[in-house]
Amino acid sequence: MNDTAAQPLKLFNSLTRQMEEFAPVHPGEARVYTCGPTVYNFQHIGNMRAYIFADLLGRTLSWKGYKLTHIINITDVGHLTSDADAGDDKMEKAAAQAGKSAWDIAKYYTDAYWLDIDRLNIRQPAKWAIATDHVEEMIAFAKSIADKHCYELESGLYFDVSTVPDYGRLAGTQSDDIEGRIEAVEGKRHPQDFAIWRKTPAGETRQMEWDSPWGKGAPGWHLECSQMSIKYLGERFDIHTGGIDHREIHHPNEIAQNQAHNCSEHSGANIWMHNNFLIDRAGKMSKSSGDFLRLQVLIDKGIHPLAYRLMCLQAHYRSELEFTWDNLAAALTRLKRIVMGVERLSAKADGKTESISHPALLQLREKFDAALSDDLNSSKGLPLLEELLGLKKVTAGQRLTLLSEMDAVLGLNLMALQRSDLRVRPNDAKMNDSEIEEKLDQRQQAKSEKDFATADAIRDELIAQGVELMDGDPLRWDWKIDV
Ligand code: AMP
Ligand code: ZN
Repeated sequence: MNDTAAQPLKLFNSLTRQMEEFAPVHPGEARVYTCGPTVYNFQHIGNMRAYIFADLLGRTLSWKGYKLTHIINITDVGHLTSDADAGDDKMEKAAAQAGKSAWDIAKYYTDAYWLDIDRLNIRQPAKWAIATDHVEEMIAFAKSIADKHCYELESGLYFDVSTVPDYGRLAGTQSDDIEGRIEAVEGKRHPQDFAIWRKTPAGETRQMEWDSPWGKGAPGWHLECSQMSIKYLGERFDIHTGGIDHREIHHPNEIAQNQAHNCSEHSGANIWMHNNFLIDRAGKMSKSSGDFLRLQVLIDKGIHPLAYRLMCLQAHYRSELEFTWDNLAAALTRLKRIVMGVERLSAKADGKTESISHPALLQLREKFDAALSDDLNSSKGLPLLEELLGLKKVTAGQRLTLLSEMDAVLGLNLMALQRSDLRVRPNDAKMNDSEIEEKLDQRQQAKSEKDFATADAIRDELIAQGVELMDGDPLRWDWKIDV
């Protein structure tokens, strides 16, 4: 445990519906599993909120001195178009639509996802666990629970949820509540029973299929997360994360499989954590709606990706977050101001850090620790970082040290990010950066000569080129993007 970050870490456990103090299974360690993307399409910025949250969790655990093992999976097989056991495999469907192989589709969208992970300064997990690399082990897992917990139907091997205690406790629903939502599969004993192996229908061939004791087919979606989390983190590990939609079906099913496999009533992870949705005016952002925002769209409009990360950090992970372009523009402005503050601080300190001794800084560090220890309250932590920048009475070197510590948690890359990095040129801007700069200088010159007609003409010219100026900015951040 890091004694500068010594306050007990309290996290909201979706399973018990209460705040709990983090108590690691293995002293000094934190083992975390995050449900990763289904790579049949691009991730939208709502999906990326789930990974920003998991990254904040991982960074907080590291700040507190725990040795972190973080696993994120890549779902490249098994996820059906319905969360229940109906519909097509998302990968096979996307492959058929694109006229490509399912393997190519998976690779393409995994690479795109990893690029976004990088752009959002999300740390690399200990391992990206790829589902198709684990199918043999999933079959062994299924075999180990088949006799006691499963039954076979023509369409596959199904898990009987009545064979484990407390099924659905995580979702907080009684069995009847969800009956109507789950599409029926002929022969299922209970509506919540789910496929752990899906047989390839007679006469069909799937691109992704494996031999198994139940015939050729593919694993059910939930199986991969149970098998891979247990493989890499142990039968009992610390924290399992995912978006709030996973609380209803995917995670209860994982828990049932874990209980069966581990011959235990324990759910597998001590704490289950869920981020709330990013929503927009139309409601929850979702891939199936077809119309969704991805990080690249923000970048094309001239928004630096870390402005989106900041926007997420401004809200608590358990609150819904509404996406609007105005909110995003405000986050970008806030980020610019922070970056300019850091530039000034760094120049003052000549880039050199000093160990922290000033009582005002020690107090600020304690407050920051308290904010993050309170179920990762980054929205409370951010103003403390801003307070630090303005704390004139403390040497710049000491402040720079605390800044780098805080940023190690928030992940805004503040020790490296330059003001100029934030000037992302919009896709539709016809001018390059130096041409824009030149115009800006000319405009400033005109303004200083009180030649407002010329200044306005230059502004109009820039707007026509896709570059909108932000007037009245005392920090002379000269241009923003028309979104
Ligand atoms: P998927 O690729 O669909 O499996 O989703 C990847 C992750 O994003 C999962 O943890 C989802 O729960 C999460 N997620 C999906 N939609 C949203 C949203 N609008 N806001 C936040 N998280 C989401
Ligand atoms: Zn999962």
